[in-house]
Amino acid sequence: MSRQLIAAGNWKMNKNYSDGLQLVKEIKNGTKDGKAKVVLATPAIHLKEAAAIVADDDAISIAAQNCHQATSGAYTGEISVEMIQSTGAEYVIIGHSERRAYFNEDDALLAAKTNAVLAGGLTPIFCCGESLEIRESGEHIAFVGEQLENGLFHLSPEDFDKVVIAYEPIWAIGTGVTASPAQAQEMQHELRKLIANKYGAEAADATTILYGGSVKPANAKELFSQPDVDGGLVGGASLKADGFLEIINSF
Ligand code: PEP
Repeated sequence: MSRQLIAAGNWKMNKNYSDGLQLVKEIKNGTKDGKAKVVLATPAIHLKEAAAIVADDDAISIAAQNCHQATSGAYTGEISVEMIQSTGAEYVIIGHSERRAYFNEDDALLAAKTNAVLAGGLTPIFCCGESLEIRESGEHIAFVGEQLENGLFHLSPEDFDKVVIAYEPIWAIGTGVTASPAQAQEMQHELRKLIANKYGAEAADATTILYGGSVKPANAKELFSQPDVDGGLVGGASLKADGFLEIINSF
């Protein structure tokens, strides 16, 4: 896959069924022939109908927010990649910091989930990012680099080529504090260098790396204009059509 501009919305555990589908329709109707692909990560209950709503629009895709790593079995409450794929969703968020923190998802598990997503023919959006404590210690670039190495660098070049990365500093998620464009650019440039060392310069250049953490209409344009920022993974600001459309149309 070649590098792509993406505006992804992560709804987290928000929106009941009818409000969620309403929002999908509003986003679909308000998205101009923009430069960016729009990805909506809805709760699992919305996936099928949301995918049906956007089925005739190549510019919008639906994502799951998580999956189980096994193909099927006795895992009460879990959802497999095959199930997600059967709804028409095309992406799966893997390793969001809330999953890492509240559900103890570690790098080994996230590597297995990434494998499952790829084996199921879907696109993983692999999240990485450091805490404030790690940033203040000055170890943030090494720390996030290790998350990539442990979660993704076992992949073949063919599989790595299908992955989207989202850099999401934990201190910027849901806090209203955004990484400055320079901070986002610095990290994402370093990640691209790491990818170049592992997979070569061409692969690094083709990798889509999003920024996430308090992206809003007011800061999206400047963040997305950084050379190594290929778009955003947006939480809170993706829950209202007007604001998210402004972000989508700010490329
Ligand atoms: C997120 O959950 O991925 C996120 C970036 O949230 P917010 O935009 O609300 O900070």
